[in-house]
Amino acid sequence: CGIIGALSSRARVQGHLLDALQKMEYRGYDSAGICVADQGVLHCAKAAGKLAKLREKLAGSACDGSIGIGHTRWATHGAPNEVNAHPHISAHCAIVHNGIIENHAQLRRQLTSAGLSFASDTDTEVIPAMLSTLLDKCSYTGQAWHQMLQSLDGAYALAGLIDITPDTLWFARKGSPLLLARRGNDYFVASDALAVADLADEVMYLREGEWGCASHDGCQVFDAEGRMVACQWQEMPVAA
Ligand code: GLU
Repeated sequence: CGIIGALSSRARVQGHLLDALQKMEYRGYDSAGICVADQGVLHCAKAAGKLAKLREKLAGSACDGSIGIGHTRWATHGAPNEVNAHPHISAHCAIVHNGIIENHAQLRRQLTSAGLSFASDTDTEVIPAMLSTLLDKCSYTGQAWHQMLQSLDGAYALAGLIDITPDTLWFARKGSPLLLARRGNDYFVASDALAVADLADEVMYLREGEWGCASHDGCQVFDAEGRMVACQWQEMPVAA
Protein backbone atom coordinates (compact mmCIF):
# COMPACT_ATOMS: atom_id res chain seq x y z
CA CYS A 1 0.00 0.00 0.00
CA GLY A 2 1.09 3.59 -0.43
CA ILE A 3 0.40 6.80 1.46
CA ILE A 4 0.76 10.35 0.22
CA GLY A 5 -0.03 13.71 1.78
CA ALA A 6 0.54 17.09 0.12
CA LEU A 7 0.32 20.69 1.30
CA SER A 8 1.02 23.27 -1.36
CA SER A 9 1.18 27.06 -1.23
CA ARG A 10 0.17 27.46 -4.86
CA ALA A 11 -0.89 24.38 -6.78
CA ARG A 12 -4.04 22.35 -6.49
CA VAL A 13 -2.88 18.99 -5.19
CA GLN A 14 -5.23 16.42 -6.79
CA GLY A 15 -2.79 15.81 -9.68
CA HIS A 16 0.19 15.48 -7.30
CA LEU A 17 -1.69 12.95 -5.15
CA LEU A 18 -2.66 10.77 -8.12
CA ASP A 19 0.80 10.91 -9.70
CA ALA A 20 2.47 10.03 -6.39
CA LEU A 21 0.13 7.06 -5.88
CA GLN A 22 0.95 5.90 -9.39
CA LYS A 23 4.67 5.91 -8.55
CA MET A 24 3.94 3.63 -5.58
CA GLU A 25 1.79 1.16 -7.53
CA TYR A 26 4.65 -1.36 -7.34
CA ARG A 27 3.87 -1.73 -3.61
CA GLY A 28 0.62 -3.49 -4.58
CA TYR A 29 -3.00 -2.43 -3.96
CA ASP A 30 -6.63 -3.33 -4.57
CA SER A 31 -8.36 0.07 -4.25
CA ALA A 32 -7.49 3.75 -3.97
CA GLY A 33 -8.78 7.05 -2.67
CA ILE A 34 -8.00 10.69 -1.95
CA CYS A 35 -9.34 13.46 0.24
CA VAL A 36 -8.70 17.17 -0.24
CA ALA A 37 -9.65 20.12 1.93
CA ASP A 38 -11.02 23.15 0.16
CA GLN A 39 -11.94 26.16 2.33
CA GLY A 40 -12.06 23.82 5.32
CA VAL A 41 -14.48 21.36 3.70
CA LEU A 42 -13.22 17.78 3.21
CA HIS A 43 -13.98 16.15 -0.17
CA CYS A 44 -13.26 12.42 -0.64
CA ALA A 45 -13.27 10.16 -3.69
CA LYS A 46 -12.58 6.41 -3.67
CA ALA A 47 -12.71 3.52 -6.10
CA ALA A 48 -12.14 -0.23 -6.03
CA GLY A 49 -9.56 -1.52 -8.49
CA LYS A 50 -6.83 0.33 -10.33
CA LEU A 51 -5.96 4.03 -10.07
CA ALA A 52 -7.42 4.51 -13.54
CA LYS A 53 -10.87 3.93 -11.96
CA LEU A 54 -10.23 6.67 -9.43
CA ARG A 55 -8.97 9.00 -12.17
CA GLU A 56 -12.15 8.31 -14.19
CA LYS A 57 -14.27 9.14 -11.18
CA LEU A 58 -12.37 12.37 -10.53
CA ALA A 59 -12.37 13.60 -14.13
CA GLY A 60 -13.92 17.05 -14.14
CA SER A 61 -14.81 16.85 -10.42
CA ALA A 62 -14.42 19.69 -7.97
CA CYS A 63 -12.44 17.41 -5.62
CA ASP A 64 -9.38 19.64 -5.45
CA GLY A 65 -7.66 21.99 -3.04
CA SER A 66 -4.23 23.02 -1.79
CA ILE A 67 -3.99 20.23 0.81
CA GLY A 68 -4.84 16.54 0.52
CA ILE A 69 -4.10 12.92 1.34
CA GLY A 70 -4.19 9.77 -0.78
CA HIS A 71 -3.90 6.01 -0.40
CA THR A 72 -3.60 2.79 -2.30
CA ARG A 73 -4.99 -0.01 -0.13
CA TRP A 74 -3.85 -3.59 0.31
CA ALA A 75 -6.78 -4.98 2.31
CA THR A 76 -6.04 -6.75 5.59
CA HIS A 77 -9.43 -6.31 7.35
CA GLY A 78 -12.55 -6.04 5.20
CA ALA A 79 -13.10 -6.85 1.53
CA PRO A 80 -11.33 -4.81 -1.16
CA ASN A 81 -14.29 -2.61 -2.13
CA GLU A 82 -15.10 1.09 -2.33
CA VAL A 83 -16.58 1.42 1.17
CA ASN A 84 -13.48 -0.14 2.74
CA ALA A 85 -11.08 1.95 0.61
CA HIS A 86 -9.32 4.78 2.40
CA PRO A 87 -9.54 7.67 3.31
CA HIS A 88 -11.83 6.88 6.24
CA ILE A 89 -13.72 9.80 7.66
CA SER A 90 -15.55 10.81 10.82
CA ALA A 91 -17.15 14.02 12.06
CA HIS A 92 -13.96 16.10 11.94
CA CYS A 93 -11.29 14.26 10.00
CA ALA A 94 -10.09 12.02 7.18
CA ILE A 95 -7.35 9.42 7.63
CA VAL A 96 -5.24 7.16 5.41
CA HIS A 97 -3.46 4.24 7.07
CA ASN A 98 -0.85 1.66 6.13
CA GLY A 99 -0.59 -1.18 8.65
CA ILE A 100 -2.81 -3.09 11.05
CA ILE A 101 -4.52 -1.87 14.24
CA GLU A 102 -4.40 -4.92 16.53
CA ASN A 103 -6.89 -3.60 19.11
CA HIS A 104 -9.45 -2.43 16.54
CA ALA A 105 -12.25 -4.72 17.81
CA GLN A 106 -11.92 -3.46 21.37
CA LEU A 107 -11.78 0.20 20.24
CA ARG A 108 -14.77 -0.31 17.95
CA ARG A 109 -16.82 -1.72 20.86
CA GLN A 110 -15.79 1.18 23.09
CA LEU A 111 -16.63 3.82 20.44
CA THR A 112 -19.90 2.10 19.48
CA SER A 113 -21.07 2.16 23.09
CA ALA A 114 -20.19 5.86 23.15
CA GLY A 115 -22.68 6.33 20.30
CA LEU A 116 -20.46 6.32 17.19
CA SER A 117 -21.37 4.32 14.11
CA PHE A 118 -19.11 2.72 11.51
CA ALA A 119 -19.45 2.48 7.74
CA SER A 120 -16.69 0.00 6.84
CA ASP A 121 -15.32 -3.38 7.92
CA THR A 122 -11.75 -2.09 8.27
CA ASP A 123 -9.53 -1.91 11.32
CA THR A 124 -8.59 1.60 10.14
CA GLU A 125 -11.97 3.25 10.73
CA VAL A 126 -11.47 3.27 14.52
CA ILE A 127 -8.71 5.86 13.96
CA PRO A 128 -10.84 8.77 12.65
CA ALA A 129 -13.64 7.77 15.06
CA MET A 130 -11.26 7.90 18.05
CA LEU A 131 -9.73 11.15 16.82
CA SER A 132 -13.10 12.88 16.42
CA THR A 133 -14.09 11.84 19.95
CA LEU A 134 -10.81 13.20 21.34
CA LEU A 135 -11.05 16.44 19.32
CA ASP A 136 -14.30 17.15 21.17
CA LYS A 137 -12.57 16.58 24.53
CA CYS A 138 -9.06 17.98 24.13
CA SER A 139 -8.09 21.62 24.36
CA TYR A 140 -5.83 21.56 21.31
CA THR A 141 -5.55 19.47 18.17
CA GLY A 142 -2.02 18.14 18.75
CA GLN A 143 -3.12 16.74 22.11
CA ALA A 144 -6.04 14.91 20.46
CA TRP A 145 -3.74 13.50 17.72
CA HIS A 146 -1.21 12.30 20.33
CA GLN A 147 -3.87 10.71 22.56
CA MET A 148 -5.39 9.00 19.51
CA LEU A 149 -1.96 7.48 18.72
CA GLN A 150 -1.56 6.33 22.32
CA SER A 151 -4.87 4.43 22.07
CA LEU A 152 -3.61 2.33 19.11
CA ASP A 153 -1.82 -1.03 19.32
CA GLY A 154 -0.25 -2.29 16.12
CA ALA A 155 1.49 -0.84 13.11
CA TYR A 156 0.69 2.36 11.30
CA ALA A 157 1.81 5.03 8.92
CA LEU A 158 -0.87 7.72 8.98
CA ALA A 159 -1.69 10.93 7.17
CA GLY A 160 -4.70 12.98 8.21
CA LEU A 161 -6.74 16.09 7.56
CA ILE A 162 -8.75 17.74 10.35
CA ASP A 163 -11.47 20.27 9.52
CA ILE A 164 -10.69 22.58 12.44
CA THR A 165 -7.04 22.89 11.27
CA PRO A 166 -7.78 22.95 7.52
CA ASP A 167 -4.31 24.07 6.40
CA THR A 168 -2.38 21.50 8.43
CA LEU A 169 -1.21 18.05 7.37
CA TRP A 170 -1.05 15.54 10.26
CA PHE A 171 1.14 12.44 10.24
CA ALA A 172 2.55 9.60 12.39
CA ARG A 173 4.48 6.38 12.00
CA LYS A 174 5.09 3.23 14.02
CA GLY A 175 6.03 -0.04 12.37
CA SER A 176 5.23 1.14 8.81
CA PRO A 177 7.42 3.47 6.73
CA LEU A 178 6.72 7.21 6.34
CA LEU A 179 8.84 10.20 5.39
CA LEU A 180 8.38 13.94 5.37
CA ALA A 181 9.60 16.00 2.41
CA ARG A 182 9.60 19.70 1.59
CA ARG A 183 10.32 22.36 -1.00
CA GLY A 184 10.01 25.88 0.38
CA ASN A 185 6.65 26.03 2.14
CA ASP A 186 5.32 22.93 0.40
CA TYR A 187 5.26 19.77 2.51
CA PHE A 188 4.64 16.12 1.66
CA VAL A 189 4.41 12.83 3.50
CA ALA A 190 4.91 9.57 1.61
CA SER A 191 5.62 5.88 2.08
CA ASP A 192 8.49 6.10 -0.41
CA ALA A 193 10.76 8.99 -1.49
CA LEU A 194 10.20 7.93 -5.09
CA ALA A 195 6.66 9.32 -4.88
CA VAL A 196 7.80 12.89 -4.14
CA ALA A 197 11.33 13.01 -5.62
CA ASP A 198 10.32 15.57 -8.27
CA LEU A 199 8.14 17.64 -5.91
CA ALA A 200 10.52 18.15 -2.99
CA ASP A 201 14.21 18.99 -2.42
CA GLU A 202 14.67 17.72 1.12
CA VAL A 203 13.56 14.65 3.00
CA MET A 204 13.35 13.55 6.62
CA TYR A 205 12.78 9.87 7.35
CA LEU A 206 10.51 9.68 10.39
CA ARG A 207 11.75 7.41 13.15
CA GLU A 208 9.72 4.85 15.03
CA GLY A 209 6.93 6.49 17.05
CA GLU A 210 7.40 9.98 15.59
CA TRP A 211 4.41 12.14 14.70
CA GLY A 212 3.62 15.74 13.96
CA CYS A 213 2.09 18.28 11.65
CA ALA A 214 3.06 20.58 8.80
CA SER A 215 1.54 23.89 7.77
CA HIS A 216 2.72 26.90 5.77
CA ASP A 217 4.33 28.17 8.99
CA GLY A 218 6.62 25.10 9.11
CA CYS A 219 6.52 21.66 10.61
CA GLN A 220 6.76 20.17 14.07
CA VAL A 221 7.81 16.63 14.90
CA PHE A 222 7.43 14.90 18.27
CA ASP A 223 8.50 11.54 19.68
CA ALA A 224 6.12 8.93 21.09
CA GLU A 225 6.20 10.62 24.52
CA GLY A 226 5.30 13.99 23.02
CA ARG A 227 8.75 15.63 23.26
CA MET A 228 9.64 17.89 20.35
CA VAL A 229 12.27 16.41 18.02
CA ALA A 230 14.78 18.48 16.01
CA CYS A 231 14.03 18.13 12.29
CA GLN A 232 17.02 16.70 10.42
CA TRP A 233 16.56 17.32 6.71
CA GLN A 234 18.67 15.59 4.08
CA GLU A 235 18.95 16.32 0.40
CA MET A 236 16.43 14.34 -1.66
CA PRO A 237 18.36 11.45 -3.24
CA VAL A 238 18.61 12.05 -6.99
CA ALA A 239 17.90 8.44 -7.80
CA ALA A 240 14.80 8.33 -5.53
N1 GLU B 1 -5.41 -2.56 7.60
C1 GLU B 1 -5.90 -1.53 6.74
C2 GLU B 1 -7.05 -2.02 5.88
O1 GLU B 1 -7.23 -3.18 5.70
C3 GLU B 1 -4.80 -0.88 5.90
C4 GLU B 1 -4.25 -1.82 4.85
C5 GLU B 1 -3.10 -1.17 4.08
O2 GLU B 1 -2.01 -1.01 4.67
O3 GLU B 1 -3.31 -0.87 2.89
O4 GLU B 1 -7.78 -1.23 5.37
